[in-house]
Amino acid sequence: MICLNKSCIDDWLIDKFDDLRMKLYSMHPDDLKAIWTCHECHRIFVFHSDVDDHKDSSGHKMINKMALIIPAEPLA
Ligand SMILES: [Zn+2]
Repeated sequence: MICLNKSCIDDWLIDKFDDLRMKLYSMHPDDLKAIWTCHECHRIFVFHSDVDDHKDSSGHKMINKMALIIPAEPLA
């Protein structure tokens, strides 16, 4: 059952925002330079902390790291 009251949605948004803010404060040096894909379930992770969470919660150990190439200059 999903609650659609405004106060419930506000709580949910604050929750998500706190989650994101915590992630930004606890960034790994590889965050924003790499993404990770799980070899076993093919999920994609943007934050290293999510990889650790996934390893703990799923028991999946084979995570591939892929360099994220961001051009220094905007493409014309
Ligand atoms: Zn997995």
